[in-house]
Amino acid sequence: MVEEKIEVYCPRCGKSVRWKGSLYRPFCSQRCKLIDLGRWIEEEYCLQGEQLLSDEEEGDSNAA
Ligand SMILES: [Zn+2]
Repeated sequence: MVEEKIEVYCPRCGKSVRWKGSLYRPFCSQRCKLIDLGRWIEEEYCLQGEQLLSDEEEGDSNAA
């Protein structure tokens, strides 16, 4: 069985992580996981804000 030798690379810092037994996979540590999650939420929040603004603008120009 090679299952125990599976390794992935942390999407945050690129460090190799042993898949089996890793609490924060695919991240190497809780720190990397939290950083990546926080960034994702921030991006999502920004995208939604921009979408709302451009939607309003489009509706306005369509009506006029
Ligand atoms: Zn990492």
